[in-house]
Amino acid sequence: MTEDLSKMEPLLAISNGGISVIHETVAEKLERKQLSPSLIRDINEGCPAAWVAGTYAVPQLIKEEPDTAASRGSLYHKVMEIAFELPAEERTRERIDSIIPEVLESDEFSFFKDNVQALEWLEDAIDGYYEMGGRPRRVQVAKYQRKDDEEPKLGLEVFVKGKLANASRDTLGYIDRLAVDQINEGGVIIEDWKTGAKAKEWNPKTKSTDGLAEARQQVIYSMLLSQTGVNVTGARLIYPVARKMVPIPVDDEKFNKRVLEDVEKADESLTNMIETNLFEYKPSILCSWCPLNKICPVPNNASFEKARLARQKQPSVEDLAPGFDFV
Ligand code: SF4
Repeated sequence: MTEDLSKMEPLLAISNGGISVIHETVAEKLERKQLSPSLIRDINEGCPAAWVAGTYAVPQLIKEEPDTAASRGSLYHKVMEIAFELPAEERTRERIDSIIPEVLESDEFSFFKDNVQALEWLEDAIDGYYEMGGRPRRVQVAKYQRKDDEEPKLGLEVFVKGKLANASRDTLGYIDRLAVDQINEGGVIIEDWKTGAKAKEWNPKTKSTDGLAEARQQVIYSMLLSQTGVNVTGARLIYPVARKMVPIPVDDEKFNKRVLEDVEKADESLTNMIETNLFEYKPSILCSWCPLNKICPVPNNASFEKARLARQKQPSVEDLAPGFDFV
């Protein structure tokens, strides 16, 4: 967050047609932007105006509460990352509990120390995973050797990056865990934690895009990992809070083709938006959860209670004003 907002130069211009970049530093960052599964989702299925403002202006204007769904998810990820560095037989439920104080000592997560609700949530998420069939002590973490590593390391928080289809930009991301495929010899399964309350499963037979971004993310990871010579035989999303495992096929030709088209589409759209310097509005039911809601000229202000309450919590015009030129 900017220390003195009165001295802040506007970063973006907001007009009836969309949002434009007016500050050089934002323009430079956009030029260097690479693709990621979340960016592909935000550009293809989300609102580009909300994305550009939410990425480059809102974080400088609004101090976010530290306890968010995302920061709770990161806390769970960190505990599990340490847990899966342990030999399989040591991953008991009690041993996981002993990791939590260690994680709460770190600067990144110390703000959770006295947050009883968040720590109860964490315990419930860990319980959830243990209730899903006792997998923790059966998982064999696969080893993975990056280009610059001298020797293979445990496949935890694996960074992947590469070109997909005809996209002009690289696509990158972090895979939570690589597990040894215990059925197909030599195979590796991509595993990703999702700490939302509801499991998302994409159904290609419906028009809904619910779960599409999550499934596409795993296929993108699979393609990028395969480029480094790994034999990826499957992927799964693990929802510990919802207590559900969602398998994602990585060899579905039709879906893989669609994923590559989605990557190219996002790449082209981003290039076009940068060239025209216009990030258009795409109103939806999610407008009530958008931090631009009170300055956006075209919000979809749904009238149901949950949406109304969400809108009340969005930043005021005065909070956002230092970062925007209103044209
Ligand atoms: S309020 Fe809706 S249309 Fe406006 S920027 Fe946010 S998501 Fe986009």
